[in-house]
Amino acid sequence: MAEADQADVDRAVRAARKAYQRVWGPMPGRERAKYLFRIARILAERSREFAVLETLDNGKPIKESRDVDVPLVSQWFFYHAGWADKLEHAGLGPNPQPLGVGAQIIPWNFPLLMLAWKVAPALAAGNTVVLKPAETTPLTALLFADVCRQAELPAGVVNIVTGAGETGRHLVSHPDVDKVAFTGSTPVGREIARTIAGTDKRLTLELGGKAANIVFEDAPMDQAIEGIVRGIFFNQGHVCCAGSRLLVQESVAEEVLDRLKARMATLRLGDPLDKNTDVGAINSAEQLGRIRDLAATGDDEGAARWSAPCELPERGYWYAPTIFTGVTQAHRIAREEIFGPVLSVLTFRTPAEAIEKANNTPYGLSAGVWTEKGSRILAMADKLRAGVVWANTFNQFDPASPFGGYKESGYGREGGRHGLASYLEGTR
Ligand code: NAD
Repeated sequence: MAEADQADVDRAVRAARKAYQRVWGPMPGRERAKYLFRIARILAERSREFAVLETLDNGKPIKESRDVDVPLVSQWFFYHAGWADKLEHAGLGPNPQPLGVGAQIIPWNFPLLMLAWKVAPALAAGNTVVLKPAETTPLTALLFADVCRQAELPAGVVNIVTGAGETGRHLVSHPDVDKVAFTGSTPVGREIARTIAGTDKRLTLELGGKAANIVFEDAPMDQAIEGIVRGIFFNQGHVCCAGSRLLVQESVAEEVLDRLKARMATLRLGDPLDKNTDVGAINSAEQLGRIRDLAATGDDEGAARWSAPCELPERGYWYAPTIFTGVTQAHRIAREEIFGPVLSVLTFRTPAEAIEKANNTPYGLSAGVWTEKGSRILAMADKLRAGVVWANTFNQFDPASPFGGYKESGYGREGGRHGLASYLEGTR
């Protein structure tokens, strides 16, 4: 992949500025909507091609890229196409205006979906963008550029630059950028916040997480077991909102663990392009190293490891689905984001203790609650310090629902009216 340098980033930002001033900014919303609808339709038509490329590039199971990532991507464009001529309802007064040129930087775990989360609202609101995909997963972003061409989107409205952190730095610090939208790790998010402090650029940050998935004794158990598995092993656990801390009520802990292990033993790990695969490959050697190192602290600090009995293929980067029991809140595996298929299990006795443990983290992106009691769901959602709380489900996404964090998980929301508003200037 080309490593875009300062001159390449300059060219991309210039193209975006020109397209914003001459074409996209002045274009009536209903016209912009037509392009977005066209992009959404082409993405749906070319979904197979995108799913295969995403799986090849990222290592996620084809079942997931085919049934989750790619369908959500086209939904995101359909949903935002509908907003393009209704911006007066975005909650910012009668005539909100676009911000201008957006610099967008995304991670490798959902390459195309993160692109859609960033590009669709920006374009619907009348902004133009320069987007940098992650260095290990740039392919679907480049194929998306081809979709833009096919949709006859005016030149300069969407610009993709490839490269690593240095390219991202050029983009973030470019003086002609009006808004920076970043999804990635908390340390890089902080660096970006420091870089743009003192400028008038807008910033939204979607960062890491360490979500609690809380299972009460009255939970619908079949669903809960599936939700725990989906919560942590979906996309090999490379999910910012992964349910990486299981908080299970003491009275049912043994039953839950037995059933969880039995279910984990049925997970099929292997070739990501095989449509029966449940758990695919780790994205890079570097990420595999991080997972191994952090999981090893679980062994060193006295937690008990159990891994699903699966054979790891010889070639490539693999990590067996793993749980740690006997985890305490002081353990690093209970506090730090592993970003891999590793679940830390803690127990609680009362709802108050569950809340205390769930909130005892510097992060606050998401949480899950499993119980038959509606009143308990509402009471928990009220007290959990997390941007998204799922009840009797996990890892569900909808373009109409705002997504984003508390605390070290970042600020700003993506999705729904709130996400759109972050690309608009206006009065409330
Ligand atoms: P990362 O922060 O290392 O990289 C993210 C992106 O930033 C990449 O495109 C990278 O090239 C770029 N980058 C790196 N250094 C930069 C710099 N100094 N300036 C500008 N750009 C720079 O993160 P990652 O390892 O790719 O992704 C994993 C992290 O992303 C996890 O912590 C995860 O929780 C988080 N994440 C959050 C969300 C969310 O919505 N909150 C979604 C997905 C991933």
